[in-house]
Amino acid sequence: MGTRKAGQWLDGHHHNHSPFNPEVDGTFSVNQTGADVMEILSGASGSSSSINPATPGEGSLYGTGGGSVMWAKPSELNVDPHASAHVLAHEGAHSQFPTALSEEYKRRILASAEGSPYAGREWNPTNLPRNGASIRYMYETEVVPTMLEEANAQGIARAVTDKMGLGNIEGRDNLSYPMIYGYKFLDQLDNNTPTLDGIPLGVGITGTDSEREEYYRIVDNMRTRVQRQFNHGYNLIPQ
Ligand SMILES: [Zn+2]
Repeated sequence: MGTRKAGQWLDGHHHNHSPFNPEVDGTFSVNQTGADVMEILSGASGSSSSINPATPGEGSLYGTGGGSVMWAKPSELNVDPHASAHVLAHEGAHSQFPTALSEEYKRRILASAEGSPYAGREWNPTNLPRNGASIRYMYETEVVPTMLEEANAQGIARAVTDKMGLGNIEGRDNLSYPMIYGYKFLDQLDNNTPTLDGIPLGVGITGTDSEREEYYRIVDNMRTRVQRQFNHGYNLIPQ
C-alpha cells in the first residue's frame, strides 16, 4: 500500500478503487464503490453483511490492505479502510457465499472453541504416520477446506470487480493467494524431514514411496482444483 494525502482521497481520485472515504473526524465510511460491491453481492446471495472499517491499534487490520471474517460472526466484515474493492468483495464472499466444505470446517473449529478467523489451523506434521494416506488425510481435512474457501472468495471477488468494469484490481494472479495454503502445507511436510547440515532434505528425498507419490499428486492437482472452485465462485455472480 502506498501512502497518500487525505486531499487526494477527498478529490475523488480513488485509483485503487477504494470502497471507503475518509471523514473529517478520521473515521471512514463506505463510498459508492463500496456500496456497489455490497449491492452486487447481496443481489446474488439474497443476504447482507455489515462492515467494520478497522481502526489503528495493536494487531489491527488498519494499514494492512486486508480484511477478515470471523467464523463466529460471519455477517460482519472487518476491513482495512485502505483496502481495495477486491478485498471488500472477497470478505463479502466469505460472509455471504461460504462453501459447504468451509461450513463443515467451521463447525469443527467452533466446536473446538478456537474461534479463529478464516485461516488455516496450526497443526503438527511430526505426529503423522509416514505414509501417503496420512499426508492425503491432513491435506483434505486441514488444508483443502480453507484453500477452496479462499479460491471461491477470489472467484466471487473477481466476478464483482469484472461486473463493475474494473477487471483484476488485485494486481496479481487471483489463484496465488488460495494456493499459499497448499504450498504452506507442503513446506511444513518438507520442514519435518531429516536434515543434512541442519537443512531439511524434503519429502522428495527422504519420503517413503507412498509419501512421495501423494506429495507430487497434491502438487500436480492443486492449481486445477483451485481454478475449478474459483470458476464456481465466479459463476455465482451474474455478469
Ligand atoms: Zn479470504
